[in-house]
Amino acid sequence: MHRLLARQLKKLKLGDLNSPEVTSWQEFLKHVETSYQASDQDRYTLERSLTISSEEMQAMHKSQKDSYEVRLHSILAAIPDVLFLVTEDCKCIEVMSGSGRLLNEQRDKSLGKYIHEVYTKEQSEFFQNAITQALETEQLVVVNYELDINDSTHHFEGRIKPTDHKVEGKRTVVFVAIDVTKRIKTEVQGQLISTVFESSKEGMIILDNKLRLVTVNISFCEMYDESMESIPETIPSLIKDFMSNETNQQILKAVRKEGHWIGEIAGKYKNGKSYPLWLTINTVKNTLGQVINYVIMLTDISEIKRSREELEHVATHDSLTNLPNRVLFHDRLEQAVKRTQRTNSLGALFFLDLDRFKNINDNLGHQVGDDLIIQVSQRLSTVKRDSDTLARLGGDEFTLIIEGLSKTEELAMIAEKIHVVFNKPFLLGGYKLNISVSIGISVFPRDSGDPDELIKHADTAMYSAKDMGRNTYQFYTQELTSNAFEYFAIEMALRKSLDRKELFLLYQPQYDIKRDEFIGVEALIRWRHPDMGVVSPNMFIPIAETSGQIEEIGEWVIGEVCNQCILWKKDGLPEFPVSVNLSRKQLVIPNFFERVQNILFSKNIDGKRLEFEITESSILENEDVVYNNLKELQKMGITMAIDDFGTGYSSLVNLKQFPLSRLKIDQSFVRDVTKDTNDEAIIRATIALGKSLQLKIIAEGVETEEQRAFLNKEGCDQAQGYLYSEPVSPDKIADLLVAGQRPANKLAD
Ligand code: C2E
Ligand code: CA
Ligand code: CA
Repeated sequence: MHRLLARQLKKLKLGDLNSPEVTSWQEFLKHVETSYQASDQDRYTLERSLTISSEEMQAMHKSQKDSYEVRLHSILAAIPDVLFLVTEDCKCIEVMSGSGRLLNEQRDKSLGKYIHEVYTKEQSEFFQNAITQALETEQLVVVNYELDINDSTHHFEGRIKPTDHKVEGKRTVVFVAIDVTKRIKTEVQGQLISTVFESSKEGMIILDNKLRLVTVNISFCEMYDESMESIPETIPSLIKDFMSNETNQQILKAVRKEGHWIGEIAGKYKNGKSYPLWLTINTVKNTLGQVINYVIMLTDISEIKRSREELEHVATHDSLTNLPNRVLFHDRLEQAVKRTQRTNSLGALFFLDLDRFKNINDNLGHQVGDDLIIQVSQRLSTVKRDSDTLARLGGDEFTLIIEGLSKTEELAMIAEKIHVVFNKPFLLGGYKLNISVSIGISVFPRDSGDPDELIKHADTAMYSAKDMGRNTYQFYTQELTSNAFEYFAIEMALRKSLDRKELFLLYQPQYDIKRDEFIGVEALIRWRHPDMGVVSPNMFIPIAETSGQIEEIGEWVIGEVCNQCILWKKDGLPEFPVSVNLSRKQLVIPNFFERVQNILFSKNIDGKRLEFEITESSILENEDVVYNNLKELQKMGITMAIDDFGTGYSSLVNLKQFPLSRLKIDQSFVRDVTKDTNDEAIIRATIALGKSLQLKIIAEGVETEEQRAFLNKEGCDQAQGYLYSEPVSPDKIADLLVAGQRPANKLAD
């Protein structure tokens, strides 16, 4: 029997066959079994091990059925642990174990040796104490210890049980060393996982494959403001809610197919408020590939989104004024240009630069400079419409992007509005300071379709505004850049034109449309340039306006008209009204009316002889200076006409408020009469409007009989244009009247 066992042991590389202790195996094995029975857990290991057998074992089983030793031996051969038979003085008499290199090494190392020969002093003492305790108490002693084997730490559970068996008169114990390294690692991992689950900031839900709740973590409860206890009721309704949505059903489908889904959905708080929710769904599958669990992770990303938006705001806005910065401005300009190109409309870029900002910064300090920038940004914000973009590029540079324009004339109005908000002094560091701004304007897509070029153009125009004497605006025009030299040459030449008597006036007669009667004339200026010949006012008046020469030229025109009236009187001509074109620049001169009065007085001319033609954009709302001038001029008997009516955007309220007597329909509408029904409609509306305001209506640029007939039919009162006469020299007017055309004289009534 023992030989059979010994052979089996040898095959399993256990024990020394010739050892005298072999006789004691039966006893030994009995103790082994009892020591194992002490642990439920290990019984499991044993039972499992029973399935392991070798061919020889099977043969043995056959012949020695039910043999106690065989059965025990089967157990022994299969157990994965190491069994030591140790004497009370710690000599290792027997070592037994199942297979495994690690355990074999243990056996080889310890067999026949005292513990202190194999282990360190500390370890030996530890084992000695445990063995002594087991012997003294005659109880099972369980110890946990670690050993470094082959450079890795192994955890062992040692079970020490005294035996009845003595070796050479010494008491013995059975020491079972169970390697629990794996178990401990799994335990630690489990703890780690549950710690992560519980401490995670993400809300987590684990569901089974039928979407029934398994568990949730604390964060989930916090997210939904639920207690752990109420969760079993909350979850089913949440899931029901989730599944009621078509897209969410698609999500679950994807999870079933792909095994996972990640993305943003709209989450909903208990109070109904929705928020951006980042959802991660993973599946856990069994070895057969069937889904057993869904692991759902929920992250409220509203905070992340908000901080991203904040970051974006910081990156795209100026910190001082909170206006869009250069980056955002560029982006908006690009979009605006594209839109105008698509919609065939007009847009403009205003480039604004404060005049003498450096002076303020240098003399009053940067704090005051910053304060000024903030106040300027606030004032400018009142000018812009919601659809416009006001940006600060840095320093004292601002830009304004305007879209949806129908006519470039509107831009002058906006530029004027900007100047108006600068009229009031700024309160800075205890000082009242007058600050002005220079504005450059480029128009897109007319000037360019390229944002960078538009900026350059507006910048160029802004510099020429500065050159013009600041506090003014300039458009980017071809003359300004490529022909800057020519432009300034004209300006210089214009300065000498008065002295050199190069300016003169032509007069265009005006007629009553029904009776074909002469009713008056419009004075139109000309410049006989020594090299260029006769120059059109369209070319030099804008230069005169920006260079500030219009004041002087304008007064010369009024004086010249008076002189002409005197000459006509001398020639015996009846008195008829003369229309004189005025620039806005003249109307904003505070004492303009006085200057006119002086001229009339010195020439002894009645104000009733004159009518001033002003454009719509000359009369902005709430402008006291202009209003006052017009009122005073009216008192002198001078009448007022709105020139180029229909091209600006005067409001009805505005028109009512000023002392007007005539509306002049712009020639651009007259030109397309009988061709363009839109223009016809505008003319009809203008006539109706004029009548309602009790104004006479005159049409300019009437060239054909059809135009005249149409205007007559629609109720237009008067007309001027090539159909009747071009602008002519004053003696031609005398000829005309002498030839029998009698004026319907407004002075008569
Ligand atoms: P406006 O006041 O609209 O003057 C009418 C313009 O149309 C004049 O051009 C006139 O010669 C032209 N015209 C007259 N009849 C016809 C016609 O049947 N067909 C066409 N196609 N054109 C016609 P002009 O004389 O070259 O004057 C251009 C502009 O210069 C004027 O437009 C006015 O805004 C300005 N201007 C002229 N004289 C003065 C002035 O003394 N002071 C100021 N500030 N501006 C002036
Ligand atoms: Ca005119
Ligand atoms: Ca006109």
